Amino acid sequence: MADENNKCAHEGCACVVKDDEEYCSPQCEAAEGQDVTEIVCSCGHPGCV
Ligand SMILES: [Zn+2]
Ligand SMILES: [Zn+2]
Repeated sequence: MADENNKCAHEGCACVVKDDEEYCSPQCEAAEGQDVTEIVCSCGHPGCV
C-alpha cells in the first residue's frame, strides 16, 4: 500500500507531497539542509505557517 499521507520531509511543514517527492518546495529542502532549528515552514503554502 502506498502512503496516502505523504508529508513533506521538513518537520515544520504540514504540506502533502507526491509519492516521488520528499519536500514540497525548494525552501523546505534548503531549510533541512541548513543547520537551523527553524520550525516554521517558509514554503509559502496556505495553511502551512
Ligand atoms: Zn510547507
Ligand atoms: Zn514542505
